[in-house]
Amino acid sequence: MSLPVERKPLHVPPFEEVAAVLQNALKKSFAEASVSVVECPDLKQQPFGLESKGLCGSPRLADVGGVPYLMPLVKREKVYDLKELAKSVDLPNAFVVGAGAGPFPYVGANSELMANLKTGENASNGSHIAKIDTTSGNYVLQKLPATETGCALLLNMYACEGKSGKVLHVKAKKRTADTNLVSCMKKGLEEFYGDKSVGLGGTFRLIEGKVKCHVMPEFSEAPITCDAEVNKWLKFFEMPAPMVFMSTFVSKENGLDLRLEHSHGYGKDWGGHYHYDTTPDIVEYEGYYNIAEFMYRVDRPKDSHGFGRD
Ligand SMILES: [Zn+2]
Repeated sequence: MSLPVERKPLHVPPFEEVAAVLQNALKKSFAEASVSVVECPDLKQQPFGLESKGLCGSPRLADVGGVPYLMPLVKREKVYDLKELAKSVDLPNAFVVGAGAGPFPYVGANSELMANLKTGENASNGSHIAKIDTTSGNYVLQKLPATETGCALLLNMYACEGKSGKVLHVKAKKRTADTNLVSCMKKGLEEFYGDKSVGLGGTFRLIEGKVKCHVMPEFSEAPITCDAEVNKWLKFFEMPAPMVFMSTFVSKENGLDLRLEHSHGYGKDWGGHYHYDTTPDIVEYEGYYNIAEFMYRVDRPKDSHGFGRD
């Protein structure tokens, strides 16, 4: 069964210009910040440990499903396969990183997905999920087996050919304003580019400090209808460095009912959905992003709403 797919081109400004815009934005919120255009390092190596070397070659973003499939009540038929999603974004041999809901049919529970995999000819899977242990109430991190490429309900993904090439190298240290790393960059792009949608995808790591993350518990049996109920349902934790995040963001809604930013990450045995760091005085981030050429909207919900998108 093929999924409905819409596609719109994104605005693709010159790398040097985006680097300057991001650096200006980060300097307003961090004591030390720099963004430069570099040749993508081998991201297969630690500390990133991704499944492909680079973030380049046919860069694109996709927003799959959405929060309306999770709430008010879960729609259990909304199960996807990343191999098929890669085909949906016209890249059957893709390197994909992303943040979404894990494959509950395999996991046996609702979970956070840190997607990091290659599909097609040289497939490999480094994806992880984080779920809530129903007995202890604590989080559990699990690496998915090579054969498990499912996800569910909602996913924000960045896909490319996994090649080396030019990328943006982001560094930020000591937060001085009330914003998270990604929102700060998104806002900078929005202020500079206005109605033109600029979308970035890639990875960042938390080198020092702690972040507030959530992990979704089991699906709610009671309908969730507003942000206050969302926050009552979610389980929040403070998670320490080092962590690696899969991250996407887009500066502006472009008529596709998008989630504008979404980052999931993991450490040694913890992981979840990124909200913000809780240690402004010592926090330190480093990331690599590419500028996406297209935004794909896959299986867009017909009945949408605005809550649960933080
Ligand atoms: Zn999330």
